[in-house]
Amino acid sequence: MSGPIPPGATIGILGGGQLGRMTAMAAARLGYRTHIYCPEPDSPALDVAAVCTVAPYDDWVALANFARTVRVVTLEFENVPASSLDYLAELVPVRPSPSILHITQHRLREKDFVRSVGIGTADYRRVDGVGDLARAAAELGGPAVLKSAMFGYDGKGQVPIHAGCSFDEAWLEMGAGEGILESFVDFTAELSVIAARGTDGSIACFDPVENRHVHHILDSTIAPARLPPPLMAEATAIARRLAEALGLEGLLAVEMFATRDGRLLVNELAPRPHNSGHWTIDACATSQFEQLVRAVCALPLGSTERHADAVMKNLLGDEANSWPELLAEPGARLHLYGKHDARPGRKMGHVTRLKPRSG
Ligand code: AMP
Repeated sequence: MSGPIPPGATIGILGGGQLGRMTAMAAARLGYRTHIYCPEPDSPALDVAAVCTVAPYDDWVALANFARTVRVVTLEFENVPASSLDYLAELVPVRPSPSILHITQHRLREKDFVRSVGIGTADYRRVDGVGDLARAAAELGGPAVLKSAMFGYDGKGQVPIHAGCSFDEAWLEMGAGEGILESFVDFTAELSVIAARGTDGSIACFDPVENRHVHHILDSTIAPARLPPPLMAEATAIARRLAEALGLEGLLAVEMFATRDGRLLVNELAPRPHNSGHWTIDACATSQFEQLVRAVCALPLGSTERHADAVMKNLLGDEANSWPELLAEPGARLHLYGKHDARPGRKMGHVTRLKPRSG
């Protein structure tokens, strides 16, 4: 437990994407300044930050200068090298701690951790080569997904494995030295819960939501999820337990599958704001971004109460060109990230539509 970092202080954020941008905007609302550190000069968060450092994540001089200007460091991008996080943590509090990133940056460590606290995941095997892959596929039986252990997101580095497929080709396609083979989960819904844990150990969770993916990329989020109350409570309990077990200071997004036979299996953890939490900006007393600011500045966590139901739709690539119609649509809340190049599949913005709260 440490004392609060008061408004007026500067929060350091590693990563310059839209998650950093929306965190910086929430921080500004509470009177904080932000210093964004990221390698790409045209990053969306740089437009809204008080101070910017554009440098590689392993530039020790730039990292030291960054640390000197901030009271706390948080992140919106998980794959910052562990050695850089450890170095920063010697100079300034890093929340969430590098030890959490060590777990969540690596799918095998992550699943081992989830299992170690008694929470279910898909069956999985470590795979270090083509021979391992054939063995693991035989052991798991049935369809499976081969994933790179590190640096995978939005379905990148994932290859479906099914009867008759070529293991050699699958291994090459995955393109990484270390992998994980997971049984394919027959799910009825994909859920996520965003938990926040403060430096005093208090925990607050947003309502479980339902996520629809198209080509492995989040397309839309329905809040709250349309599942029976006991499953909703279980999803929230899982997120709480994981936040607690990690000793989290910050946010944790927990992605889960609801299986056809009524179980919840954790797929992935992200110790940062999450795309499936964007609806909270418009539909909750406190947004996930404000909650992150509160958690890392050792302030009391805000109420996660949902004042409306919401559907959040990502605007990918040229879908964002529909902004004039969205602006004209009564009740549609448009968020654009200020990105210049609308490449196919790129997250350019999102729109949230609210409905009266269902219960
Ligand atoms: P991930 O990068 O692990 O979040 O995977 C991206 C998406 O791929 C998930 O949201 C699911 O839609 C799908 N997926 C990943 N792993 C599995 C699995 N073991 N079984 C079924 N679908 C999966």
